[in-house]
Amino acid sequence: MRKKIVAGNWKMNLRLEEGLKLANDIIAFVKEHPLKSLKGKPEMILFTPSVHLSSVATAVGQTEGVSAGAQNCHNQPKGAYTGEISAEMIQSAGATNVLVGHSERRSYFGEKDELLAEKTKIALEYGLRPVFCCGEVLDERNEKKHFDVVRKQLETGLFWLSEKEFSKIVIAYEPVWAIGTGVTATPEQAQEMHAFIRQLIKEKYNSQTAENTTILYGGSCNAKNAAELFANEDVDGGLIGGASLKADEFCAIIKSF
Ligand code: PEP
Repeated sequence: MRKKIVAGNWKMNLRLEEGLKLANDIIAFVKEHPLKSLKGKPEMILFTPSVHLSSVATAVGQTEGVSAGAQNCHNQPKGAYTGEISAEMIQSAGATNVLVGHSERRSYFGEKDELLAEKTKIALEYGLRPVFCCGEVLDERNEKKHFDVVRKQLETGLFWLSEKEFSKIVIAYEPVWAIGTGVTATPEQAQEMHAFIRQLIKEKYNSQTAENTTILYGGSCNAKNAAELFANEDVDGGLIGGASLKADEFCAIIKSF
């Protein structure tokens, strides 16, 4: 059975002490409500700013089902890339996940799928689990190009991986028009795209790989709308931005399966 995941993307928010408090509040919740006792036995990932990563990963420690992740990594292993962080640094900080291709990286930092393929590769080399983000902008949806856009993102970014490598990937479908806007994709829109992505995986790899791939929805998902999104067959959880910054709200989302 594929994994259910609720992941929080803290983006560029929170001072270190605030981030640690948030992580500790979430950990306290998980100690009281072990994730394996919740419906779907979900996992949690905390994608923190890179300066918080080591502290949060240490706080998470061996808490079952909870792990830390970085929001980005460089495509090169090391060297003269001032201001960047490498996959090895993320791994050495105790984190086990990395976001690849978040729409804000694509739009503000010009990251293209060819580069994201290299980031995915190096993340896997250092034993990290890439959460690969894809999704269309509003004009592309209005012009009915959203399926083509997502297909191309996955083909270039991921579909060159071997089946074994691909089995370590989590995909996050995040329609860009829904990120941080308060406009959520309808459950039908989310399910339609998730089913499409799963079908692409089936065509590229096989049914078993498609069945086992976790596909998260992201875009203004919160404690109020998570249940109706997660109720869809192909929606395996969420990548949560704004609503991941409050422990109560984030923990309410994990109970939405
Ligand atoms: C995100 O940043 O990945 C995201 C989905 O943000 P929000 O939940 O705030 O829309």
